[in-house]
Amino acid sequence: MNDIPKNCTVLVIGGGPAGSSVATHLAKQGIDVVLLERALFPRNQVGESLIPHFWKFTDQLGVSEKIEQQGFVSKAGGITAWNGKIHQISFAKYGYKRPGLHVERDIFDQILLQHTQRQGAQVFQQVVVKKIDIDSASPIVSYVDARAEVNIEGCLQCRFVVDASGHSSVMAHQLGTRKTIDPSLNFLSLWGYFKNSRYVGVDRRSHAVADLQTVAPVTFVMSHADGWLWHIVLREKTSVGLIVQSGKMKGMNKSQRALYFQQSCATLPYLKNLLNDAEFVEHSLQYRPDYSYYVTQICRQNYYCIGDAAGFVDPVFSHGVQNAFYNAAVTALAITESLKNPDKSARFAQLCASRIQQFYSFSRALSLGDIGKNGVNRALVTSLMKSMPQLELELMLVASEMTNRSENFKQLARDAGVWAQFAEQENKSNLGFISELNL
Ligand SMILES: Cc1cc2nc3c(=O)[nH]c(=O)nc-3n(C[C@H](O)[C@H](O)[C@H](O)COP(=O)(O)OP(=O)(O)OC[C@H]3O[C@@H](n4cnc5c(N)ncnc54)[C@H](O)[C@@H]3O)c2cc1C
Repeated sequence: MNDIPKNCTVLVIGGGPAGSSVATHLAKQGIDVVLLERALFPRNQVGESLIPHFWKFTDQLGVSEKIEQQGFVSKAGGITAWNGKIHQISFAKYGYKRPGLHVERDIFDQILLQHTQRQGAQVFQQVVVKKIDIDSASPIVSYVDARAEVNIEGCLQCRFVVDASGHSSVMAHQLGTRKTIDPSLNFLSLWGYFKNSRYVGVDRRSHAVADLQTVAPVTFVMSHADGWLWHIVLREKTSVGLIVQSGKMKGMNKSQRALYFQQSCATLPYLKNLLNDAEFVEHSLQYRPDYSYYVTQICRQNYYCIGDAAGFVDPVFSHGVQNAFYNAAVTALAITESLKNPDKSARFAQLCASRIQQFYSFSRALSLGDIGKNGVNRALVTSLMKSMPQLELELMLVASEMTNRSENFKQLARDAGVWAQFAEQENKSNLGFISELNL
């Protein structure tokens, strides 16, 4: 068992996509990084749908080949059935050469973390960060090392702390900067796994899993009376999740929630057909009540909060992992520059916070139409729209048509002058609308 060092330049809390990738970026430049992860990987994680934007980040990290070798399910796009309207997005239509993926997150995240270690970062699993003292110029991080039979407490001093602890948000909880959002937009999630579910193909028909090699799947998303649901086919099983307005489940205990899930799967249109001959994987039902929050003071000159540790957006458009990768890339840049120019470290942290807030705002405006509150900055959203690569922007503008929650986002796109130009283009003017789905 390797000893945890007493000092390092950057201490990263958490080995999910945000933590592993910031550590990889820094280690690749020879910066001395230690990453402490509470769990022993592979660890369970939700969030299996990845949009193709993620490849540019894994290319930068140098891990795309390992991901390709794993043979995850390649998906062609998404289909939504939302308030009776059906839309389809095909990534290839928007010029994407590489597919989106449906990944088992325990495996995906482990590939990323192993890569981090190979780049030279020191990774310690089963070590839980308890407290961060950021009052001095060199923060002190206290942890409990649970690798041996008896837990050992320790601490480590560093120049920068990156909190990538996911929804635990260790730093923001400690500083009291984690804010719960407006109750009307407060959701929770219930999800579980099925064997032998049929899946939704790019041809808008349902297929047996045996067809996966011949007909590419899409991520299927559908609205229902209490929220929305996802259906994501993986290699050995299918992930089905319900997003429900928190108020709808108030006071329900574990078995009542299980009944609600079971009844929804057996009765909701489309879903019930897909699950007709499927078996529920016993004990696979999971629940995430703590789902809607954002963090103020994301970065300061000696600490950075990134990924889910900095905020969480309804996952309807699969932005979570992409957000984690993006936050990690800008944070690595800010830290690298701060090390070269220590006098400017407060300024680099401020710029980084603004970038993180910008993507959070964009994502939140797109998925929930939420603008001017809950940490969403309107000016940052329009500036991102204007500077985004055309291809990515187009895909997001089509996505805004798929639910009825993005009206404010579309108005912003009009204000930013990017909507008309896009909607008038030939073949894109129907914005993904399709008339039927044969499931
Ligand atoms: C219901 C639901 C569905 C989702 N669906 C999608 C989707 O389809 N596509 C998508 O892209 N995203 C989705 N997401 C979001 C996605 O899962 C997250 O955005 C993503 O995992 C964030 O990565 P992260 O590295 O910030 O955090 P995480 O992946 O949560 O990693 C944080 C790590 O920190 C560790 N940790 C926590 N506390 C400590 C501590 N005190 N000390 C040390 N380590 C600690 C944890 O063990 C964990 O490994 C979904 C989320 C939910 C809740």
